[in-house]
Amino acid sequence: MRIVCAGGGPAGLYFAVLAKLADPGNAVTVLERNPPGVTYGWGVVFWDDLLDDLFAYDPVSARRIWDAAYKWDEYEVRATGKAVTHLAGYGFSLGRQELLSILGDRAAELGVDVRYSCDLSELPDADLVIACDGAGSRIRSMDAEHFGTSVSLGRNKYIWLGTPHVFRTFTFGFEKTHAGWIWFHAYPFDDATSTFIVECTPEVWSALEFDRLSAEAGCARLETVFAAHLQGQRLIDHRAGTGGTGWMNFRRVTNQRWDNGNVVLMGDAAHTTHFAIGSGTKLAIQDAMALADELAEGCDLPAALERYEHRRRAAIAPLQRAALASSQWFERMPEYADLPSTRFSYALSDRRGEYPLWRYLLHLSTQQSVPRALLRRALSARRWSRARRRPAAELPVPLLTGG
Ligand SMILES: Cc1cc2nc3c(=O)[nH]c(=O)nc-3n(C[C@H](O)[C@H](O)[C@H](O)COP(=O)(O)OP(=O)(O)OC[C@H]3O[C@@H](n4cnc5c(N)ncnc54)[C@H](O)[C@@H]3O)c2cc1C
Repeated sequence: MRIVCAGGGPAGLYFAVLAKLADPGNAVTVLERNPPGVTYGWGVVFWDDLLDDLFAYDPVSARRIWDAAYKWDEYEVRATGKAVTHLAGYGFSLGRQELLSILGDRAAELGVDVRYSCDLSELPDADLVIACDGAGSRIRSMDAEHFGTSVSLGRNKYIWLGTPHVFRTFTFGFEKTHAGWIWFHAYPFDDATSTFIVECTPEVWSALEFDRLSAEAGCARLETVFAAHLQGQRLIDHRAGTGGTGWMNFRRVTNQRWDNGNVVLMGDAAHTTHFAIGSGTKLAIQDAMALADELAEGCDLPAALERYEHRRRAAIAPLQRAALASSQWFERMPEYADLPSTRFSYALSDRRGEYPLWRYLLHLSTQQSVPRALLRRALSARRWSRARRRPAAELPVPLLTGG
């Protein structure tokens, strides 16, 4: 089969890997507009569920992702005038650039023709074209009516920045300014860099003059606002060299149909998921897994594309509901600002509104150092026991650390 992946993000590269693993005779081409090693954004977070899938579908790239991933424990919540509180949990993070380079190398090793620095104006002849060129998909927009594309904008403003300050763990920080509340979601993704996503209402954004400031001046203002958290380190906006800034409103993309003849949407081109639950990359990669499965069933292409769409719509629906509830919590954040610290952080963690009462009791008790250390130890043991059950993982056994 001749397959073209239009876009070399996580969806396109991972699908290319799976298509070659399924049949080395497949002629697979990935077309990516950026040069190797260049991408937007910073690190992304993910959890055990994605790792389980990655190890099941391609243990080789999974092992590289596992090795490169930053492993963090618990969440820290800081807010002006409140004590620091903690939320239980653990996760993983990885730079987008590192993830794409692992997947790009793996694809090339398997014989995929990965072409960088090329646009999509002329696609090579193919039996199957994967439109995986992201939320603003050019391929999709050429047939937007057919796909029934709808794009709605989130209310809040956000900017995806990086910083050389290495946060201890996943940290939410809320600062009260003269204009109102502004906050960040930050996490380390290697030993020298953290993701730093800043968010605020449009009113606060204008009042702090981010609508007028250049990328450099905007970062300088944010460094002042968040000085207590950055320990003198810089904030970096990738867009600084382009004359624009990275401030955006989240684009919620949906499509009524995902296929058009031999073209099929995948990842953000098909559906976006708000970053407040950090799952867009996972869903893009799981789309690739699902399409690879359905093609392996061996029926005709239209039937495989239909089963793929059906399966993925069902899988993403609950996460999209959660993402919407989560993003709406942040849009209403100032309403929660007067809560005492433990109730505030609990409201943040239960922003999808699904937790039973025992979670609140656990949250209260784990603000104390001894129960918190015990829970961290238990969760760390769970992380490693789950890791050891994965196929071909051959993971080294770590020393468990407490508190
Ligand atoms: C602020 C923010 C934080 C996020 N954090 C997380 C997180 O923590 N965890 C998580 O799982 N997800 C996160 N996401 C979501 C995640 O980034 C996306 O869902 C994911 O990248 C989608 O993968 P994709 O392959 O579908 O699209 P993309 O990653 O967007 O890849 C599309 C590729 O196509 C290329 N392309 C586009 N147009 C063309 C063209 N005309 N010609 C050639 N190439 C083209 C692009 O250069 C890009 O490489 C976050 C998103 C945002 C905005």
